[in-house]
Amino acid sequence: MAKRQWIFADRFLNRSDFHSYINDQNISIKRTEQTNGGQKITYRCSECRKFPQCDFQIRCLMKDENEYIASTSNTHNHSNRNATTPELEWSEKSVLNGFRTCPSVSIKQEKVAWKWKNGLDKSSILYWYGHTHVVPSSYCKQYTSSTWLHAYNTMPWTQFDEFSSWLYAGRLVTIPMMCSCKTNLKTYICKHAVGIMMHFGFYVVSDPGKLEDLGKRRRRPKKATSALCR
Ligand SMILES: [Zn+2]
Ligand SMILES: [Zn+2]
Repeated sequence: MAKRQWIFADRFLNRSDFHSYINDQNISIKRTEQTNGGQKITYRCSECRKFPQCDFQIRCLMKDENEYIASTSNTHNHSNRNATTPELEWSEKSVLNGFRTCPSVSIKQEKVAWKWKNGLDKSSILYWYGHTHVVPSSYCKQYTSSTWLHAYNTMPWTQFDEFSSWLYAGRLVTIPMMCSCKTNLKTYICKHAVGIMMHFGFYVVSDPGKLEDLGKRRRRPKKATSALCR
């Protein structure tokens, strides 16, 4: 593959001139490197996924706060749009799935929630207000639901570690589907929210039979004995 050719483009003597140049180029940072000559930032086309043939790049050497040297390689080429990633994919998907106010919960997620709910000490569920409850997590046993909530109100932490262990020690679950845990923030579903819904009888399990045999299946199956021995 031919070595990339760089052409000197411009030199800027302050940050704001450099930034306004960069902002006009439709590029985003690809990587940054620390070199002997200063920090080197490589930018590539912001739309390179949409236009895979676009190989436009800008490289900037930042000698210090007051000297920015920019070079370019190739130019934008937006004549062919990537056919495999149609722009409207996400909206077509929402049409296929139909309108929903809540994410759909898979059987696997139901099972995890069921197991979590069954292992939860029900006296640890603390009603807070509205539809919101506090439950302790298995991560840190230092807090009960009420000491966790007390810390939420008084913020007694003096170090990040204290704050962090508090944060993961309790879950704020708001019926129907909200929870303060990481999984819920990412996927809008978690065992805590679904489990609490199950506990209060707000959640209709899609296939109760499958949940019931969850515990049994864990046991080692009995060795099959031939029918003639019995
Ligand atoms: Zn481009
Ligand atoms: Zn959760």
